[in-house]
Amino acid sequence: MTDNTENTPDNTRIETQSIHAGQSPDSETGAIMTPIYASSTFVQDRPGEDRGYEYSRTGNPTRTALENNIAALEDGDYGRAFSSGMAAISTVLNLFESGAHVVAGEDVYGGTHRLFKEVYDQFDMEFSFVETTDLSAVRDAMRSNTELLWVESPTNPLLRINDIESLANIAHEHDALCAVDNTFATPYLQRPLNHGADIVSHSLTKYIGGHSDLVAGALITDDEELDESFGFYQNSVGSTPSPFECFLALRGTKTLPVRMDRHSQNGLQLAEWLDDHPAVSQVYYPGLSTHPQHELAKEQMDAFGGMLSFELDASLKETSDVVSNTEVFTLAESLGGVESLIEQPATMTHASIPRAQRIEAGLSDGLIRVSVGIEHIDDLTNDLDRAISSGVEGSQKD
Ligand code: PLP
Repeated sequence: MTDNTENTPDNTRIETQSIHAGQSPDSETGAIMTPIYASSTFVQDRPGEDRGYEYSRTGNPTRTALENNIAALEDGDYGRAFSSGMAAISTVLNLFESGAHVVAGEDVYGGTHRLFKEVYDQFDMEFSFVETTDLSAVRDAMRSNTELLWVESPTNPLLRINDIESLANIAHEHDALCAVDNTFATPYLQRPLNHGADIVSHSLTKYIGGHSDLVAGALITDDEELDESFGFYQNSVGSTPSPFECFLALRGTKTLPVRMDRHSQNGLQLAEWLDDHPAVSQVYYPGLSTHPQHELAKEQMDAFGGMLSFELDASLKETSDVVSNTEVFTLAESLGGVESLIEQPATMTHASIPRAQRIEAGLSDGLIRVSVGIEHIDDLTNDLDRAISSGVEGSQKD
């Protein structure tokens, strides 16, 4: 349905596409921003003769602009927007019949795990969760009825990097599809379709929206048939975003490159600063040369983004004091906005995992995850330094 090259010369770069792809000034008024087409229905000249749109669940011009824009950024041929990241993910699962088997990363987003195990499990679909940085474990998990390999990269909250090209090859050797949730990296830092993935999924709620003011999702593919199926479910299930959400997401994509540059710059500087802090025992950030998959991250990504986690040599209570005592970092779940957020996985995003299992998965009581915003780096390090010193005894930085 979408043509991502519309209104953009073929040879433009992502910084230009993020502003122009899929959009052109309104032909009637010259409005430079794509209007919010808040209309449920569209006039037909004669029965069946519409002007490209008939009913907003099926198609809406503000949504089309967003779909074309996000497809262009992912270097994909087709894009579809959804009411949330979860709605996008469930649309992929709708492709398969009962009896299908899915292999997924063991550290996929908790909501994805819940959707797979508590919703689609009921329809007799089978799921295997494996450590997807271990390619032999992935190979071993594939079965004759495996239809989908689902991964994220970087992963949450330990920022592991999955080798998309090798994983896509394994999926294809088994006639399965490879889908990558590209929410953490965004197309500015990583374009999974170019590494062999069949489907890219997004929570537009995060970096693409970028301002913590919308909930939406997207699916991008080069495969026309897959895109038609996504469109069929989008329309049949009604999992579409409102024109207002599409407008906000489109406004977000215009500044995605400059925001991601700053997120990545702050992320790297904060990771290096934390690495040097006496109270910090471990920093998880793919941009550090000590990260186990740093070389792969350099090949697969253009920079390393704004998500990082670190471990304090501290108890659950001390760590909870640290995250409660910041003033510039806001204590909150979610990620990807311009403002820096901080959270304690053990008591917040990953609290539903029993402690023993959580510790075994590497999520200690002292683990802190941050979504590094675009504030001044000195304000961020000063804030964390003060919060760590007040929360953890004997932790003063020289
Ligand atoms: N994928 C990832 C990696 C996420 O972090 C999230 C939400 O946190 C989602 C998908 C779900 O997106 P949404 O909240 O827009 O439904």
